[in-house]
Amino acid sequence: MLGNSNLTRATDMDCQHEPQLVLTPELTHYGKNQCRICGKFIGWVPKPETIALAKLNMEKIAELKKDKLSEWEQGFLLSIEKQGGRHLSPKQQEILNQMWGGRD
Ligand SMILES: [Zn+2]
Repeated sequence: MLGNSNLTRATDMDCQHEPQLVLTPELTHYGKNQCRICGKFIGWVPKPETIALAKLNMEKIAELKKDKLSEWEQGFLLSIEKQGGRHLSPKQQEILNQMWGGRD
């Protein structure tokens, strides 16, 4: 998928200026970091909710992996872990929530 791999990777950045968060409501991305001085693009910034959800997903994945799982479940957790807990499809999120469901 185009663009996703660039989400966190900074472009080769040579200037040492402070980055600045610029919101981009016209784009699908929440915002971008760009150099405060020369305006160089540094990287995309996901929504704070997206980051929070991804963190929560990764915590659930780590916890669930300690359980006895079917091969399919192991593969599923591995694949969404590779995604960093982000960009889960509604179906993937539903499955994760279901696997998590029986817990306190
Ligand atoms: Zn700069």
